[in-house]
Amino acid sequence: MAADLDCIFCKIVAGEIPCFKLFEDAETLAFMDINPAHDGHCLVIPKAHSPNVFEIAPEGFAAAARTATRVAKAVNAAVQPDGINLMQANGEGAGQSVGHFHLHIIPRRNDDGLLFNWDPKPGDRTRIAEIAERIRGLL
Ligand code: 5GP
Ligand code: ZN
Repeated sequence: MAADLDCIFCKIVAGEIPCFKLFEDAETLAFMDINPAHDGHCLVIPKAHSPNVFEIAPEGFAAAARTATRVAKAVNAAVQPDGINLMQANGEGAGQSVGHFHLHIIPRRNDDGLLFNWDPKPGDRTRIAEIAERIRGLL
């Protein structure tokens, strides 16, 4: 699917909006989430625009899944959480706020009480950059 001119993640893929990039290959991009639920929260997207799981080609999902397994291992080693959730939302009712298919990689802590509709708050960018550097070093 062609890039959507109004899509914030297409703009990140095009380099028009900056991101804390972790990894990219021909089909996918991994970068830090700017409103992290926990340290190390990051996103994996197919570079090609698809709004959601209903419209993405299986190959696009497969490419994102391949990158997610690689990045999740590095996140796990970098922030040493008690666990990691992979999360993927489709539609407003599921909490999807950006209409470009993405997988969340969310480190968890025991008893963190995290609900899957968290209150997004801007993260400390220095800290995000520092953790991104740590993860990149492990990829
Ligand atoms: P969703 O709510 O659609 O499942 O997840 C979208 C995610 O994208 C949110 O966690 C949000 O913090 C993140 N996000 C939204 N805009 C930007 C941005 O411009 N840059 C980055 N790095 N993340 C973003
Ligand atoms: Zn897009």
